[in-house]
Amino acid sequence: MSRLFDLTGRTALITGSVRGIGFALAEGLAAEGAHVIINGRHREAVDEAVGKLTEKGLAASGAVFDVTDEAAVENAFADFDRRGIEVHILINNAGIQFRKPMVELELKDWQRVIDTNLTAAFIVGRAAARRMIARGRGGKIINIGSLTSEAGRATVAPYTAAKGGIKTLSRAMAAEWASFDIQVNSIGPGYILTDMNEALISNAAFDAWVKSSNPAGRWGRPDELVGTAVYLASDASSYVNGQIIYVDGGWLSVL
Ligand code: NDP
Repeated sequence: MSRLFDLTGRTALITGSVRGIGFALAEGLAAEGAHVIINGRHREAVDEAVGKLTEKGLAASGAVFDVTDEAAVENAFADFDRRGIEVHILINNAGIQFRKPMVELELKDWQRVIDTNLTAAFIVGRAAARRMIARGRGGKIINIGSLTSEAGRATVAPYTAAKGGIKTLSRAMAAEWASFDIQVNSIGPGYILTDMNEALISNAAFDAWVKSSNPAGRWGRPDELVGTAVYLASDASSYVNGQIIYVDGGWLSVL
């Protein structure tokens, strides 16, 4: 690959990367030369994911913390500081889904989804940006949005509100941090084959709807997000800021 996309010498923290899209992005960035930090809430899962990458000769280490826990995030970054680890690239990927009609939705479930899918991007993004600004060497932040950053879907109100927020939070971050040579962009994945969508994938009617409503005629794979992530993490996107790139097989184009 061209040196424009080379990530050698960069360290990338990918939140929620023990499986699914986060793991695929970690593997993809590591394959372009980055040292990747795998994050999750459980030590065993983090160690297992790190092991899968290091077995392939990729550079990876782990950081166990809950992205919604401000103190835990601050401790993790303080630990990076003590160990001389500079996070050049942050991908705010950790996310949860919760499906329920809005009239039945309880506030605690609304809050949980907003905390994980939106507020955490602020908490972790702030910790990363403070250090990027202090070091004066710029940086990259990629926030993972969704089709629901753009389109409403029934039964997923807090997720939709959070992912819409991710798109505009990324713009706010770009507005504040662009002058420090920090680029902040979002990726909006379409329907991707991961554990999060297990119930939808095994629902024959939903599966058929995904395939018929998408011009690509199929679900996406996590590895199909890697190219966009590498682009947004690399020098190739040095003047791209506050954008969202949908990787959806063309789904939004035909709405
Ligand atoms: P998965 O459910 O497969 O993985 C989610 C990851 O997030 C896991 O690694 C999980 O680890 C982690 N996670 C959840 N909560 C926390 C937390 N509080 N702190 C740290 N880690 C956490 O989901 P996907 O890979 O499908 O989704 C990844 C991202 O992509 C999400 O932001 C999602 O909204 C987004 N997305 C997914 C789409 C899809 O079709 N799959 C479409 C559009 C967007 P653990 O639970 O072990 O801690």
